[in-house]
Amino acid sequence: MKQKIIITSIISLIVIFSIILTFHFNKKVEIVEVGEIPKAFYNQTTDLSITMPKEKKKEIVKSVVSDNTIYLTFDDGPSSNTSQILDTLKKEKIAATFFVIGPAIDKYSDVIKRIHEEGHTIALHSDTHNYKYIYSSDDNYFKDLETIKTKVYQITGVNSRIIRLPGGSSNTVSRKYNQGIMSRITNKLTENNYYYFDWNVDSGDASGSLKAETIYNNTISRLHSGTNMILMHDAEAKKTTVEALPNIINYAKENGYTFAKITKTTAEIHHHINN
Ligand SMILES: [Zn+2]
Repeated sequence: MKQKIIITSIISLIVIFSIILTFHFNKKVEIVEVGEIPKAFYNQTTDLSITMPKEKKKEIVKSVVSDNTIYLTFDDGPSSNTSQILDTLKKEKIAATFFVIGPAIDKYSDVIKRIHEEGHTIALHSDTHNYKYIYSSDDNYFKDLETIKTKVYQITGVNSRIIRLPGGSSNTVSRKYNQGIMSRITNKLTENNYYYFDWNVDSGDASGSLKAETIYNNTISRLHSGTNMILMHDAEAKKTTVEALPNIINYAKENGYTFAKITKTTAEIHHHINN
């Protein structure tokens, strides 16, 4: 009987000891798990995902241009005219910015490679450039953006986050398809660390087929001190833009302007939104 009590006691002790050990072990595992999946980190990450864009914006020191600087920007390319534009830029040792579109990239993949290889900025305009589609919903806009972004990356290896919205952020077309969409898109772009650029000098080459002289006069008469973000087009029909370009560059150089390409540290030029 006494022996039975001793055996029972020993077994009980072993069971109790095992329970304590198991508990202790589990507790350790739990700590490791907490270490591996730190809740604090997740909380912080969640918080960061909300605040990061603003934080990041603060960190990036935007290069404020004190001199008179010109950013030549070409929308809607590449095209059959791009090579000639690139030849002019090469001759003048100027870097510019190209806001490219999907169909043009598909057709001129060699040209877009050249744009990149010669040190210009490849920026994103739109894959479809179809206002009705992209401005019908936020989803459509961002799907279209993702497609052009992927195409550019696949051909050039450039992961561009520099954007120009078709029609500019001030266009009054988007609201016809979805009221308020431009405010939402531009906010989301900024929150997601994209940099969008409108313009403050319009060469006027979007409207019809202007003479080279008119494009030249439009442009030089609108130059001013500080940043000059010039809107031009690189499209099949825009031959007079190509023609006007060397004269615009000559005028600018003779009048003390310098040239730069857009980077993510370039101070963004934004229009007022009309939606
Ligand atoms: Zn365009």
